[in-house]
Amino acid sequence: MADRVNSARAALDYIRNRVKKAHHRFGAPPESVELIAVSKTFGAETVRPFLEAGQRAFGENRVQEAKEKWPGLREAFPDVVLHLIGPLQTNKAREAVALFDVIETVDREKLAGVLAEEMQRAGKRLPCFVQVNIGGEEQKAGVSVEEAVGFVRRCREVHGLDIVGLMCIPPDGQPAGPYFAQLAGLAKLAGVENLSMGMSGDFETAIAMGATHVRVGSALFGRRDQI
Ligand SMILES: *Cc1c(COP(=O)(O)O)cnc(C)c1O
Repeated sequence: MADRVNSARAALDYIRNRVKKAHHRFGAPPESVELIAVSKTFGAETVRPFLEAGQRAFGENRVQEAKEKWPGLREAFPDVVLHLIGPLQTNKAREAVALFDVIETVDREKLAGVLAEEMQRAGKRLPCFVQVNIGGEEQKAGVSVEEAVGFVRRCREVHGLDIVGLMCIPPDGQPAGPYFAQLAGLAKLAGVENLSMGMSGDFETAIAMGATHVRVGSALFGRRDQI
C-alpha cells in the first residue's frame, strides 16, 4: 500500500506541477485551477492510493459505475468532491443527485427540469455546468454554440439550477486551443465563471485559455482498456 500511495503521489505531483507551471506562464485569471482526477474504468483499489495521497476532486462518467465504486470510498474520505462528467439520462437523475457533488453535463431542457426536481426532493442544490458541443459534432453531447447562452439563462431562471460554468470536449485530431477560446467567450456572454476544459493531452492549452477545472484521467491513472 505504501508503494502505491507513493506512486500515486508522484503522479499527482507531476501533473499538479504542470498545472501550476501552465497557470503561472499564462498568468491572468482564474485565481486557481482545479485538478479533477478522472477515475472512470479504474477500480476502488486503484483510486484509493490517490485519496491517501491527498487528491479529493474526482470525475466519473457513468452513474452505475460511480454507485459501485464511490459509496465505500466516501465513507473513508467524506470530503471527496465527485463530478459527473458523462451524459446523464433523466431516469438516472435521482441517483446522480444522490451520488455526485457537481453535475458537469447539463445539456437539454428536459434534463434541467428533472435535475431541478430531484435536487429539490433531496434538499440539495448541486453546482452544475452546461455542456457545450463546441465542435458541433453529431456524436457528441452538449447544447450547440448558438443555444448555449439562452440555455444557461433558462436553466437559471426557469429551473432554478445553480449553473456555475461551461464544460466542453473539443473534437479529436484538431488543435483544441480555438475551441477552448470559444468556450471562454461563451462563458463571458452567459455570465458564468468556471470553465471545465482540458484533458490529459491538452490541459495546458486549456489553462492558457482560462480553464478553471481540468479533467485528467490517463495521465494520472495510466491507460484505459475501454473508453
Ligand atoms: C475520459 C474523460 C476525461 C479524461 O480523459 P483523459 O484523456 O484520460 O485525461 C475527461 N473528460 C471527460 C468528459 C471524459 O469522458
